[in-house]
Amino acid sequence: MFNIILFGPPGSGKGTQSANLISKYGLKHLSTGDLLRSEITLQTPLGIEAKNFMDKGQLVPDEVVIGMISTALETNPEAQGFLFDGFPRTDAQAEALDKLLTLKKTSIAVMFALDVSEDELIKRLLNRGQSSGRSDDVSENIIRSRIQEYENKTKPVADYYKRFNKVIHIKGEGTVNEIFEFLSNEIEKRKEKIQATVS
Ligand code: ADP
Repeated sequence: MFNIILFGPPGSGKGTQSANLISKYGLKHLSTGDLLRSEITLQTPLGIEAKNFMDKGQLVPDEVVIGMISTALETNPEAQGFLFDGFPRTDAQAEALDKLLTLKKTSIAVMFALDVSEDELIKRLLNRGQSSGRSDDVSENIIRSRIQEYENKTKPVADYYKRFNKVIHIKGEGTVNEIFEFLSNEIEKRKEKIQATVS
């Protein structure tokens, strides 16, 4: 198994790069944002609870997203690897993910951290809000709250993985293709290393 975390603030391009990476490497895409939005569409109790937080630009409680990821891991036993997008977003989520992956006798191979300036993030998200239908992308106040949550609670997650030497920072302001090429090269290097250790 080859598991990747795509990390970065809201609007840093995680979703765009995820789409490219899953089709190239046959990974299962697990986006907690997408999973939560589909619960909201289905109006499940989980979705109704999550919406209260998402509409304010706040993180959804850890136990809710950890439960969702745990279910997703169990329902995809065939996956050759997972691409985590928007998860983990707190230290508690990172610890829970490690435990869940250990149970599956696997781990995170690498975390890619996309770095984008705050001005650029706000511009991109307001722009996306004009067509995405996402209510959290329409108001600059909600966008600023999300970035604040990222600074306070999510950024420290990179330090968690740094301890294990798993973090690679990338400037997230080049073209989509440039960033994709960079990510692909790093993945190839690591896949070779994993294969070499196995054989
Ligand atoms: P973005 O990266 O643009 O913020 P996402 O789709 O990843 O978009 O997340 C949208 C919202 O869903 C977040 O603002 C947050 O409220 C909630 N959310 C998504 N993933 C998590 C998570 N791992 N932990 C807590 N809340 C989450």
